Amino acid sequence: MFWTNTSLLTILFVQGFTMADSKLHSKFSSLFLLPLGIFLYIFSNQPLFSDESKLNAKQNKILKETFAYLETLEPKRIKIDKTTYNRHSQFESFFKFSFSGKKLSRWIQSRSKKYTFGSTGDYVAMYQDGEILLGRGFFNLNRLDRVLVLLHEARHADGKNYSHVVCPDDFPYLNTRDWKIHPAGKKGCDSVPDGGYGITASFLFELGAYGFLSQSDAAYRYNSEISRVIRD
Ligand SMILES: [Zn+2]
Repeated sequence: MFWTNTSLLTILFVQGFTMADSKLHSKFSSLFLLPLGIFLYIFSNQPLFSDESKLNAKQNKILKETFAYLETLEPKRIKIDKTTYNRHSQFESFFKFSFSGKKLSRWIQSRSKKYTFGSTGDYVAMYQDGEILLGRGFFNLNRLDRVLVLLHEARHADGKNYSHVVCPDDFPYLNTRDWKIHPAGKKGCDSVPDGGYGITASFLFELGAYGFLSQSDAAYRYNSEISRVIRD
């Protein structure tokens, strides 16, 4: 299913290779199909080396489970003292609604209607032209990290105001997922408080405040996201 691609060229190439591999088909059919694929490519608007594809059934299931998990996060009672909550809670000022996993799920889905699978380099996901491109790494994350990724990427749908800025050369913080990825000098920081990193931090704070995460889990994750919010 991985190869079920919207690109006709890719489908034809795959057919060509499948046939070349199969003893039941002659070399002639693959030799015929490859030039036909190239010919058809000229009349399609897919980028030549794009490896984007629709999500397969397993990936779709993981994505659905991610939203289903988010929608279970409905607040009941604040588990921390009200003064601390009021001091740090920014969720409502960012989202214009009080904390609710269901509303947040709708917020994400109203910004990104299309999800594709493809290579994303050092990233687990990317936002481009109204769609979220999910890399292989996304599907290996736990459900909370997947929610953070979707929330972050959905913010990019709100335009250039939320584009990243270059992290300072002396940026001292570690990437929590992979220490080989160094944010210093890369476009992985925000100069606005409510960009992709600020909103994920505000979400994590609520998870800690309402007891969905322990204070230490919430704090370490919150600190990690907020570390990317810098002042110019
Ligand atoms: Zn981003």
